[in-house]
Amino acid sequence: MFSLKGKAALVTGASRGIGKAISLALASCGAQIVAFARTEDALQATADEIRSAGGEAAVVVGDLSDPAAGDRAVQMSIEAFGRLDILVNNAGVTRDGLLIRMKDEDWDSVIGTNLTGAFRFTRAAARTMMKQRSGRVIQISSVVGVKGNAGQANYAASKAGVIGMTLSLAKELGPRGVTVNAIAPGFITTDMTSGLSEDYQSQLRNMIPLGVFGSPEDVAAVACFLASDEARYVTGQVIQVDGGMRL
Ligand code: NAP
Repeated sequence: MFSLKGKAALVTGASRGIGKAISLALASCGAQIVAFARTEDALQATADEIRSAGGEAAVVVGDLSDPAAGDRAVQMSIEAFGRLDILVNNAGVTRDGLLIRMKDEDWDSVIGTNLTGAFRFTRAAARTMMKQRSGRVIQISSVVGVKGNAGQANYAASKAGVIGMTLSLAKELGPRGVTVNAIAPGFITTDMTSGLSEDYQSQLRNMIPLGVFGSPEDVAAVACFLASDEARYVTGQVIQVDGGMRL
């Protein structure tokens, strides 16, 4: 177990799925959590779970499409906990479709949420982290951003973009003591994947050497490591949490 005592973490998409698991895991390591998403009652449920386990949490309700959301969430961390040490850009959406049927709005909304949203939150957090001369930025990308997937050109572009941003910011922020890494999950059982047909799920399972789908906690464990002091010499990395799916 890594110790994150005395550190404050902002997690986007903390209302459910991978973001909720990351929030609970970081809190169980001792971090204070700012939980960000659009759905207030689900965010409160995440915060309540953290508090009932003895942790501290604050909630910011907002939409990644709002250009001011990142600044507001960072401000909440400063007001509630006096600092911001860890940013996890986890919130993401899919709007799948084959290229010739993909509408501009399907492209714009996925790039806007997954890539532009992560950019704005990182910019807002970096101001504080650079002043502190320490920080951890963890981007949640996807195996699809590494190897592509038919019917997901918008999603793959957003997740590949997140990787390019990670590599660039590792170089830019490293001299200020801020590490920037990405996690690329494979198939993780959440709301995002629950709508896929049994047939498609079984095709996907055949592509995974470990033969099973991952859980949100599998991703959260790697996030805890990347957030920890033990990962101080790890930056600019894309860590696959995919049961070997990319191979
Ligand atoms: P999920 O269960 O659908 O949860 C998505 C989260 O993002 C929710 O908390 C949602 O909260 C938040 N969100 C979505 N749009 C938002 C917006 N415009 N503003 C603020 N918050 C927003 O998805 P998940 O499976 O946990 O995925 C989490 C991340 O992992 C995503 O970036 C996804 O691309 C990535 N990923 C997932 C898998 C997988 O197999 N599940 C694989 C690879 C990568 P509200 O609806 O309350 O706003």
